[in-house]
Amino acid sequence: KLSKRLEWIAEQVPAGSRLADIGSDHALLPAYLAQQGRIVKGIAGEVNRGPFQAASKQIREAGLERTVDVRLGDGLAVIAPGEADVITIAGMGGALISAILEAGQAKLAGVKLLVLQPNVGEENVRSWLLAHEWTLLKELILEEDGKIYEILVAASAQPAEASNDRLYAPRLLNGPNGGLEIGRELLLKMGPYLLQAQDEVWFRKWELEIAKLEMIERQLALSSQPEARLKERELELEKKRIKEVLTCLQ
Ligand code: SAM
Repeated sequence: KLSKRLEWIAEQVPAGSRLADIGSDHALLPAYLAQQGRIVKGIAGEVNRGPFQAASKQIREAGLERTVDVRLGDGLAVIAPGEADVITIAGMGGALISAILEAGQAKLAGVKLLVLQPNVGEENVRSWLLAHEWTLLKELILEEDGKIYEILVAASAQPAEASNDRLYAPRLLNGPNGGLEIGRELLLKMGPYLLQAQDEVWFRKWELEIAKLEMIERQLALSSQPEARLKERELELEKKRIKEVLTCLQ
């Protein structure tokens, strides 16, 4: 059985897709989708030999070799241009996901949908998508086993109803405690759709983030290094921005 996180990611893959799952580990996602008959072709990419072998075993034992290829290689190097129409990259940091997309740009021609699940640093991924004209279609947030995950879905075509210009335009946030002007930086950080949806998990995520920032601040306060003061001021500002949003809405 898939975890709730992988299940939610699987749900974003349209039926009949040719899927490349990059950083596939045990190839659970392509194996599940192939078993359900929901993909016509799957590629499980892995850069590390251990997970690559685990993925190969998984696919072999499930008798799915005809549908799912397991390939060893870095990021999108495992696919040829035009080979996949959906790419999933899940369970790694946002900076790494962005670096994989950046290095593999030539392989993105013909890809219609990206389903990305950064564990941290979601703003890196949103910034990359924005800079490379991928339209953010959807953002999901879920909690499983005490961890909070975001799933970002982006399309290469520009659907009229979801243009990035509109999505990232500064907006006035209205809450029970007044209005607040939200700029692009905060939208990239907190998620334009998530900010709108205001899910309780999303509130929890940012409350935890504030607690994390406060813990770092306490550690920095013990340091006598001049850079620590600078960092403290940066964190204070970041905390203030997040708090303003939460206060406005709650
Ligand atoms: N995608 C699965 C999931 O979400 O459950 C597995 C996530 S696992 C934590 C991350 C996997 O990405 C590891 O198996 C790691 O070897 C792989 N990985 C890291 N960097 C990679 C890269 N540049 N190219 C391909 N795979 C990579």
